[in-house]
Amino acid sequence: MTSSPPLLRAHGLHKSFGDRSVLRGVDLEASQGTATALLGPSGSGKTTLLRCLNALDVPESGIVSIADVEVDFDRLPASGRGREAILRGLRAQSGMVFQQHHLFPHLTALQNIIEGPVTAQRRPRDEAVAEGRALLAQVGLGDREDAYPSQLSGGQQQRVGIARALAITPRVVLFDEPTSALDPEIVGEVLAVIRDLASQGWTMLIVTHEVRFAEAVADQVLFLDDGVVIERGTPAQVIGDPERERTRRFLRRVL
Ligand code: ADP
Repeated sequence: MTSSPPLLRAHGLHKSFGDRSVLRGVDLEASQGTATALLGPSGSGKTTLLRCLNALDVPESGIVSIADVEVDFDRLPASGRGREAILRGLRAQSGMVFQQHHLFPHLTALQNIIEGPVTAQRRPRDEAVAEGRALLAQVGLGDREDAYPSQLSGGQQQRVGIARALAITPRVVLFDEPTSALDPEIVGEVLAVIRDLASQGWTMLIVTHEVRFAEAVADQVLFLDDGVVIERGTPAQVIGDPERERTRRFLRRVL
């Protein structure tokens, strides 16, 4: 990690669903151009954390800041247009890649990618098309822009999903188990794209069970357990030489 101020910062995040407390005071910092891997057992709150950073879920308290947008959830209006504008402002700072790609089935690969820039960001269509084509080439699908999702393999669909997340030029890309819905033999092609993005300097948070991938790509690793970050550090520290028995037990099981 560099000493420059973090591009992304979360402080004291709390999130409950009903009486279930899912995030119980999560702190997180990520510098520009770094990859952060979020590891932890199923149900520990990893997806909820990503969704809170993207304002898809709204924490009850805590602060999230990405670049020059900061939201203090303790002061968020309970309802109304002001609240929506604040959440939209935070959401625009990050692009999310889901476990299932959520592509529109009736739109081609290129149309899926330019949807966000043209509809949400109101950018000129020809500009969005040119950038969309460049993104498709970047994820290795330059020759498939007219294909519909059903005509693409699972790995190709997920690569379109990644290009779509990048198309809004987010400051941070959030990956939520991007390979866990894929057949084992095509996991590698999607991980290769993510690795490529890391080397190009994208700032990324990656929820993954691919521990060896995290070890190779991440600058920092956070281990969540029951809504709390119980361990954080370099991959060599957290994966190679974990301090906590809980982390060791998890790694023994998945490695
Ligand atoms: P992980 O990604 O680490 O597997 P999640 O963040 O998906 O964990 O889930 C953490 C806990 O929060 C789980 O117990 C899950 O059932 C619960 N949870 C997540 N989303 C919701 C929701 N929308 N409504 C109710 N419970 C939820």
